[in-house]
Amino acid sequence: MKLYNTQSRQVESLDPQDKTVRLYVCGITPYDTTHLGHAATYCTFDVLVRYLEYRGAAVNYCENVTDIDDDTIREAKKRGTDWRALGNYWTAHFMRDMIALNVRPPNHYPRATETIAEIIEFDKTLIEKGFAYESGGSVYFHVNAYEKFGQLSHIPRDEMLTIANERGNFPDDPKKRDPLDFVLWQAQVEDEPAWDSPWGPGRPGWHIECSAMNYKTFGPTIDIHGGGADLVFPHHECEIAQTVNFTGEDYFARYWMHAAMVGYEGEKMSKSLGNLVMVSDLLKTFPPDSIRLYLAKHHYRQPWEFTFADLEAGMAECSELVQAACAPSGDGRPMDVSDSRERFENALDDDLDSPVAARELCELADSILEHSDARRDVSEAQMWLRRAASILGLRLDAYGPEGRVREGWGRHLNRFPTEDLGA
Ligand SMILES: [Zn+2]
Repeated sequence: MKLYNTQSRQVESLDPQDKTVRLYVCGITPYDTTHLGHAATYCTFDVLVRYLEYRGAAVNYCENVTDIDDDTIREAKKRGTDWRALGNYWTAHFMRDMIALNVRPPNHYPRATETIAEIIEFDKTLIEKGFAYESGGSVYFHVNAYEKFGQLSHIPRDEMLTIANERGNFPDDPKKRDPLDFVLWQAQVEDEPAWDSPWGPGRPGWHIECSAMNYKTFGPTIDIHGGGADLVFPHHECEIAQTVNFTGEDYFARYWMHAAMVGYEGEKMSKSLGNLVMVSDLLKTFPPDSIRLYLAKHHYRQPWEFTFADLEAGMAECSELVQAACAPSGDGRPMDVSDSRERFENALDDDLDSPVAARELCELADSILEHSDARRDVSEAQMWLRRAASILGLRLDAYGPEGRVREGWGRHLNRFPTEDLGA
């Protein structure tokens, strides 16, 4: 199988045979509802996981929840609610959306707030090694101390600051040596949540949370690190700087894989722009399979634009897939699916080209219906149709999500007790 690696900017081969693939995907910051952009990202990695498993690999999958962050604190203050309750509420909401969309649950679902001790260890080591410094109760990573900073995003230094400032950086923080230095530990402000540390009460910076959760789960290196394309810089660039300088290894993740942004009404779908399409709203009108098929029809690296018309247009294809899976099989010569199977596999082998795989699946359904009409034996073709559909996360005529999806997410859900937010 081949995958595009953001770091090398090349399609590289990945041979997962008989291996356990360690995959880490950045999870949500739970301060609002799940939108279609989130669904596109997590369904992309779901198809990757399902395909790697089909190819014989075991996948050890970790997705995190950034349950302490500027966004959760700000939103909780605005709503006059407890930040933990807010985080639990939206994390549980996200998980229910993932269950409904039949997204395979990660094996590990760490919360940043469960990783504080490891985060403090990271910060201490980075200070000892000269990559970080304490200033006024906060700790910062000193970007100039690491000459490879920029190796992932390939962004020229003078453009980094502009982008970082749009994504949570405070360039004018007087405690920093350089405006691009990023925070590893921030000293407590007023009544914000805080934990004890060698530098006084405070809370972790955003980037260090993922480095620490990754390390706690997998150790020094992983195979694939994923996330939305908006995380390449600064989040993932900063994660590499933290992790390799903490571990002393040459690399952190062998492959960096990023899902493109989804647009709506001409803009990137985002809370700040207010152009969100909520997954829970779509699920009131559209069957999960039609959403999954619609998402699969977009290549994960190409930014695309959501339209209701396109989603509706795919409903007929979904019913045809079900019809084909259930069509009567005759006693004529068995239908041969080896070419179809090869085209489906080749598509996903080629940088997870799910649009070609989805088209192949729909053509296979057409062909099964024709062969069924001609009283040919389509039973083997139907078995392959069901198998291929399941790689794209589709359930066809089965009722609800897979058992392992319900059970796996259910276990994680137990750690997020929800209460009525009263708003
Ligand atoms: Zn992350």
